[in-house]
Amino acid sequence: MKSIIYEPAKNLQILGTYDVVVVGGGIAGVSAALAAARGGAKVCLLEKFCALGGLATIGNVVIYLPLCDGKGHQVSGGICEELIKLSVDDEPKARPNLRIGPIPACWAKGGDLEERKKHRYETGFNPVTFMYKLERLLLKNHVKIYYDTRFCTVLKEGNAIRAVIVESKGGRQAIMTQAVVDASGDADVVYASGDKTVSIGGNVRSCWYYIMEDGQPKLCPWSQRFSATKSFPENGRTFRGDSADQVTAQVLESRHFSMLDLQKRREAKPESDIYPIMTTTMPTHRMTRRLAGKVTLRVTDDHRWFDDTLGMTGDWRKAGPIFCIPLRAIAAAKTTNLITAGRCISSIGDTWDVTRVIPTCAVSGEAAGAAAAFLVNDENATSFFDLDIKALQTYLKRKHVIIDKNLVEN
Ligand SMILES: Cc1cc2nc3c(=O)[nH]c(=O)nc-3n(C[C@H](O)[C@H](O)[C@H](O)COP(=O)(O)OP(=O)(O)OC[C@H]3O[C@@H](n4cnc5c(N)ncnc54)[C@H](O)[C@@H]3O)c2cc1C
Repeated sequence: MKSIIYEPAKNLQILGTYDVVVVGGGIAGVSAALAAARGGAKVCLLEKFCALGGLATIGNVVIYLPLCDGKGHQVSGGICEELIKLSVDDEPKARPNLRIGPIPACWAKGGDLEERKKHRYETGFNPVTFMYKLERLLLKNHVKIYYDTRFCTVLKEGNAIRAVIVESKGGRQAIMTQAVVDASGDADVVYASGDKTVSIGGNVRSCWYYIMEDGQPKLCPWSQRFSATKSFPENGRTFRGDSADQVTAQVLESRHFSMLDLQKRREAKPESDIYPIMTTTMPTHRMTRRLAGKVTLRVTDDHRWFDDTLGMTGDWRKAGPIFCIPLRAIAAAKTTNLITAGRCISSIGDTWDVTRVIPTCAVSGEAAGAAAAFLVNDENATSFFDLDIKALQTYLKRKHVIIDKNLVEN
């Protein structure tokens, strides 16, 4: 039997023309779309589900990890900080059962350094209100949102993407564009563009869900033991997340195991009234497929300055490390007008485990979106690598993005 069939070529209706197309509406995509729109670009965002926030909201992964280095210094700012504040602006008090904020008071302007060393700049939020607030924010900034719209592939002219092909209720259509941000989480656009990607297969079963326990709502962050570099034989099967079979298997098994977790909770407290109220409906993969960029961030890049740094991040797992995120770790090596954001940027091992989390996705998202707007506005640049990096850094710093050599060299 033949393993391939021929699909005849056909004319496609043009759905729209945008300066920048952002693929994926997770935290990275939202940040990228916002940054590109604020940079003066006409932007659309494609999302296959019908909400913004990706894993952070639809995946119920509601903990906005730190914007600081654990030693009292803030290392991530800009949209990353705007979004953490937005996430809890309607939640002035803590709700420990739900892991909801507030942001520690010491991170208000003029806060005490010793207190900041003790309490990291992080919070937890309500996924229902956060996904709504993200929508309003993008609409206010004139980003066109296309829900229920799946990125399928690209049409290229030479090394540049000229159109993005999507499928939705309207069928298969094209969107004309000058720059594309891949915030799909899984480097779908990079893969379709023929740029080099790297996949790993270490995803475990996980499914964060909510229950009511004796009338009180509670978050159950159920997940098997996980490390970016070690495997745990007791976990059994792990998943790649880059094919329909693998994604389906991870979702089916994760849901099944989370229901076993629910059963255990009921057995442990037979006197309590426990029932589930909300579970995730998206695959909860941590790291699947990513860009292989000109630079791949690794553990040895802790406290390393890059001249093309466009944002910075701490390490959510421990105090001390600071990583700079250079343009070369987010722009595609070959496709001239393609840039990545979020959990599919070019980083490896334990450092991938750092760059994939919510605050860092916002940092790389803002960097990618601002760079895309610069590319569109610069008549002399045909590739992200032609951009005037110093001008881009100055622009980002004006937007309160932290790009500070002193933080990593002193
Ligand atoms: C179990 C688990 C626990 C975690 N815990 C935490 C935590 O406590 N704190 C923390 O900060 N981080 C945590 N993380 C990591 C973090 O949540 C994610 O890595 C981060 O939110 C990823 O953001 P993103 O925008 O890069 O990708 P995603 O959130 O994956 O967003 C990608 C978006 O793109 C859309 N998309 C994908 N392909 C297409 C396509 N072809 N067409 C159209 N749309 C598409 C998806 O639907 C999705 O909305 C956790 C992750 C997991 C899995």
